[in-house]
Amino acid sequence: MSNVLELIPLGGLGEFGMNMMVVACGDTAILVDAGVMFPEPDLLGVDLIIPDLRQLARYRIQALVLTHGHEDHIGAVPHVVPHFDGPILGTKLTLALVEPKLEQQGPEMRARLREVKPRERVTIGSFTLEFLRVTHSIPDCVAVAIHTPAGVVLHTGDFKIDQTPLDGEHVDFHRFAQLGSEGVLVLLGDSTNVERKGFSGSERDVTDGFEEVFTSARGRIVVAMFSSSLYRMQILVDLADQFDRKVAFVGRGVMENSQIAQRLGYLRIPPGVQVRDSELREYPQQDVVCICTGSQGEPQAALPRIAINDHRHARLDVDDVVVFSAREIPGNEKAIGRVMNHVARRGADIIHEGIKHIHVSGHGSEEELQLMLSLVRPRFFVPIHGEYRQLARHARVARMVSPGTKVVLAENGDVIRFDEEGGRVAEKVAAGRILIDGTRSGEVGDEVLRDRRHLAGDGLVVPVVAISRQSGMLEETPDVITRGFVLDARTEALLKEIPGLVGSTIESASVEERTDPGLIKEKIRVDLQRFFRKRSGLRPFVLPVVMEI
Ligand SMILES: [Zn+2]
Ligand SMILES: [Zn+2]
Repeated sequence: MSNVLELIPLGGLGEFGMNMMVVACGDTAILVDAGVMFPEPDLLGVDLIIPDLRQLARYRIQALVLTHGHEDHIGAVPHVVPHFDGPILGTKLTLALVEPKLEQQGPEMRARLREVKPRERVTIGSFTLEFLRVTHSIPDCVAVAIHTPAGVVLHTGDFKIDQTPLDGEHVDFHRFAQLGSEGVLVLLGDSTNVERKGFSGSERDVTDGFEEVFTSARGRIVVAMFSSSLYRMQILVDLADQFDRKVAFVGRGVMENSQIAQRLGYLRIPPGVQVRDSELREYPQQDVVCICTGSQGEPQAALPRIAINDHRHARLDVDDVVVFSAREIPGNEKAIGRVMNHVARRGADIIHEGIKHIHVSGHGSEEELQLMLSLVRPRFFVPIHGEYRQLARHARVARMVSPGTKVVLAENGDVIRFDEEGGRVAEKVAAGRILIDGTRSGEVGDEVLRDRRHLAGDGLVVPVVAISRQSGMLEETPDVITRGFVLDARTEALLKEIPGLVGSTIESASVEERTDPGLIKEKIRVDLQRFFRKRSGLRPFVLPVVMEI
């Protein structure tokens, strides 16, 4: 019994995001990663999606191991930590990115954070955990080798093979190979980029593309990126220094992460290069670089506001250049396209991946995945991190690299069991997702927003708004649909005010804002939530529907 090993993916297998895996053997169980997924921009009011945590009760979880600081690996930590006792293990940067998320949970939660270093070993119950350096698009990433009584489980985390890492921290090939020759029971491998041939390339590879932008730009250089792209921030800071421009971070995510990274030495900014966003207007446009959030067209982020000149500090004019330095996450294309249209209306130039090499993926392509498989030569291989087609493709790659390896293709909720009969999916347990509304800490409901606690408590408000595609003005009085409201005289009076309120929200917006369904929905949502909070203390879930006529 004690030598039966179980792996239960609760997220990240069959989808991109919210990575989370239970590893259990005998009396010991740990969790590897606790990530979130971001909703498509149109799923307004839902800030995050996390895995269903019901299955955690099946095991006595003794530790949470974090491979790196991306949100799809650490975003659900505050939701997961109340479900177990024990340490939260991660490298220095990873824990620094987790810490602010635990602020509301008190000092005893933060006391559970335990820093680990590559090549360090930590004992948890009958497991010994060992951390191995890997390269990715954020610094301080590790893979984890879990030595269990049943054998070694090697989890790659997210990785690519960056042979010229900006921070000089190379993939620990030696230890991967050594573990391989000592014998690895099962390898869990990142499948994100398995459909790409060749190598993904170094983080450094974007330097030339950006240098061309700096050489030719006559106005501001505005770069939208993921707030975790610290290597890219370093490249931009260095170019700004070289070309005598000031750098400002605009948007909460890039501000917070750049501060943490500077404090810990992962981002070095020469004195005098950085300015506050509120100081931007003091500098001529050709002296400025803005590093901002909003690369996915998120209506509440910086770039979509800047693009309609509705940002408090940053603006766009003719001669400026806007660089979209991030992958387009599928589902976000429309929102990103709308932001690009706004940018073009300002007369600014647009540069994206298709025009210049200004983005490089953090995930290994086929050659890198093959190299990992041939270094480790595991007895079993489980592809992780991907939709089913990527997992299936990675399975094929593994069979080509090492015919002796048995592949187990699994999805979220599959219990993968290793015992004397081998390794296989032995049973299926419930796994799913929970939508989180960031304005409060609890869950709001499941995928279709049915009768859950939040809705029963504070209700759901759906203003249905028909606007003219051309002018953005109301075509008729908005309808308001509600669910879960106690309809007394007071709430009825409140609901009667909504059509008028929506009307004035739309009137106060610029034409560009109200003809952009993403932006106007967000504005209506924010205004209505404020209205309910102020007037009734209620926090209903507000889900505007905007029809363009
Ligand atoms: Zn990652
Ligand atoms: Zn990831």
